[in-house]
Amino acid sequence: MDIRKADPYEADSHAVREREERSRSCGRDASLSVHIASELMRSYDKHDKCGLVWIPRVVAYRCRTCGISPCMSICRECFHRGDHSTHDFNMFLSQAGGACDCGDNSVMKEDG
Ligand SMILES: [Zn+2]
Ligand SMILES: [Zn+2]
Repeated sequence: MDIRKADPYEADSHAVREREERSRSCGRDASLSVHIASELMRSYDKHDKCGLVWIPRVVAYRCRTCGISPCMSICRECFHRGDHSTHDFNMFLSQAGGACDCGDNSVMKEDG
């Protein structure tokens, strides 16, 4: 009798605890990344940097004429604004997502 009573109770409380933990951590992760993304966007807005953050599988550009670092990447808008069409550029599909380096002197020339 006692065992029959205790077993479902144990299982239930354990399952509930697991469910709670999973949903809590999921919710935290999601809101955290959204929070970071919006914080990034907002902090970059104050500078003249474009600072666009893009999601994976978005087309971005890399300009070897303007870029100091090979890992620089700029968004389509900055590519057209900076008129890199005559430069040594290449268009690539960003696999992991990234951020626009436009205006970042450490990775590209100022006039880029
Ligand atoms: Zn940009
Ligand atoms: Zn360029």
